[in-house]
Amino acid sequence: MLTDSHCHLASHKFPAEEVPALIQRAKENGIHRLITLATSLKDLDENITLANTYPQIFAAIGIHPCDVHITPDRYLEELKQRLTDASNKKNICAIGETGLDYFHPAPIEGGLSTEEYHARQRALLHQHFQLAAEHGKNIVIHTRDKESQQSLDDAVEIYKKYADQVHAVFHCFLGPWTLPQVQTILDLGGYLSYTGITTFKKAANTLQAAALTPADRIMVETDSPYLAPTPHRGKRNEPAYTLHTAQVIAKARGISIEELAAITEQNVNTFFKLA
Ligand SMILES: [Zn+2]
Repeated sequence: MLTDSHCHLASHKFPAEEVPALIQRAKENGIHRLITLATSLKDLDENITLANTYPQIFAAIGIHPCDVHITPDRYLEELKQRLTDASNKKNICAIGETGLDYFHPAPIEGGLSTEEYHARQRALLHQHFQLAAEHGKNIVIHTRDKESQQSLDDAVEIYKKYADQVHAVFHCFLGPWTLPQVQTILDLGGYLSYTGITTFKKAANTLQAAALTPADRIMVETDSPYLAPTPHRGKRNEPAYTLHTAQVIAKARGISIEELAAITEQNVNTFFKLA
């Protein structure tokens, strides 16, 4: 059994009435748990409701870096309130999706310069780490750059300040393995999670990183509805397709799919504090 450690089930691409079928197709492919991540105040409660409705679903709550310009400061109180609500306690398993995105320019809406936009992303990332520390949760981080590795670098620097209290997973990790940040993340106790990009022919660096990541620090995910793996590339992604990614990574590591599942399940249980 595998867990899709990162999907967005509240996306408009997944109508609420389709969720039981998504869970069923996932199960038929050996995916027994789905971790759905909020990205904004708008999809926060829908993600929590999914986790409170279906025993296979757990939620992470946070503000995506591409949403910080339209997120009011009171978001932090909103997240705290959800975390302390007793009916959510078992089902909110982490803080995220948060992080730094230097790939996209500052959106017109919100009126921030690109510099201000990125500064706000860093401020919110600090706040998410503090929130995670206060509530005994770990944190799911997105980074993306146009060129260089500045967002990864900045996120790792921020992680350093909280690493004695919180573990971070760098989701949709692309590699290459030779990046200096990789060793720093591992030294801090962090995790690396891999998507369907590992199945793409032109992403040898990403598959190599997935092959070399220590057994106690690797997770697999879809990031669905985005990034469908081969053979579904270009179509809507869904949690069931975690299997394609897991098969490719297992092969690259020279182990069976069952062995990869055992490794990643252990890591999911530890990181998200499940089971
Ligand atoms: Zn995501």
